[in-house]
Amino acid sequence: MSTHLAARLQGFGTTVFAEMSALAVATGSVNLGQGFPDTPGPAEVLDVARAAIGTPLDQYPPGPGLPVLREAVSAHVQRFRGLAYDADTEVLVTAGATEALAGAMLGLLDPGDEVVVLEPLYDSYAAGVAMAGGVVVPVPLRPPPAPPGEVSTAPWTLDPAELRAAITPRTKLVLLNTPHNPTGKVLDRAELELVADVVREHDLLAVTDEVYEHLVFAGAEHVSLAQLPGMRERTLVVGSGGKTFSTTGWKVGWVCGPAELVACVRTAKQFLTYVNAGPFQPAVAAGLGLPDAYFAGIAAELEGKRDRLVTGLAAAGLPVVSPQATYFATVRVDGDALAFCRELPHRVGVVAVPSSVFYTPQHADLGRDLVRFAFCKRDEVLDEAVRRLTA
Ligand SMILES: *Cc1c(COP(=O)(O)O)cnc(C)c1O
Repeated sequence: MSTHLAARLQGFGTTVFAEMSALAVATGSVNLGQGFPDTPGPAEVLDVARAAIGTPLDQYPPGPGLPVLREAVSAHVQRFRGLAYDADTEVLVTAGATEALAGAMLGLLDPGDEVVVLEPLYDSYAAGVAMAGGVVVPVPLRPPPAPPGEVSTAPWTLDPAELRAAITPRTKLVLLNTPHNPTGKVLDRAELELVADVVREHDLLAVTDEVYEHLVFAGAEHVSLAQLPGMRERTLVVGSGGKTFSTTGWKVGWVCGPAELVACVRTAKQFLTYVNAGPFQPAVAAGLGLPDAYFAGIAAELEGKRDRLVTGLAAAGLPVVSPQATYFATVRVDGDALAFCRELPHRVGVVAVPSSVFYTPQHADLGRDLVRFAFCKRDEVLDEAVRRLTA
């Protein structure tokens, strides 16, 4: 631990993703660790970015984002969620969902404010809350039982009593993530109603990270928390083009919400990055306007990859929890997940990430033996990983 690192960032050293990706290179392993696709996004999107480079779009875009993108975000959320947001005052373009989330925490939290989050939690949440001086209060999602060599398709569960017990007089907001990374869970309507009840009853705010909104598989349906009665006016909805258009390096995200809440994020954002990704903004706008068939198509393709991987993991004798959405499947291993993931590249030539890193220290035991495999990879890459795991 660095003696110079600020106290509020102690414990947020180098992410395990960096360690595992380096291990993948060093051992020549198939990397199913970090969740990024290994094929390019749609030509309709990429071509717009290529054409924009070398034009005035290379210069600072307007602070809230290019109008063409804000309008596209607004039309997209209207089309898929039936929610109307004013493109000028209720939509803000950010440097990925990551900046939208960090900006929301910096713009909304006072020191000591508590943020209720589902656990396991995406790694930037705890850091974002900590940078704002807030306190994370985790509420566990629990995996279904999965016998060795079998695929469980039951969803992870949220205990209503545990959610209610997490609320204190210091609670400021609920930070939701659905579809959820790393579990692949999609909150169903009853669960969303529970969250909405709690938020309304205690007069809280909600921030909902929906970057996987289009990567949802048959049998599950994504509903935004903002669609529930009385929730639009107290919810910030965070989205991103990274996962939807296979452009995770572009870092074009956004946040939609009532003007007053969006202004809080904008206040923080203007001193974080001010603006970002000039040439990529019109490209993501073009992507958001693609026909419904594009969005259904990426989900269907990814569902095939999910099945390919979970079947293979089960054939390798592992107990697998099949996700309802996202890029990720979870397995339970014998013993410690971090030790398992450090050995796996040497033993069989495959890299995964220990889901234990997505748990807070106080709940370390809940994730101790869980490992996350990404399946947003070419079929031959998934097949090679399975071949190595089975051998
Ligand atoms: C990938 C991811 C993000 C980050 O999105 P960017 O647009 O790349 O910043 C945020 N939340 C979750 C749950 C993610 O998986």
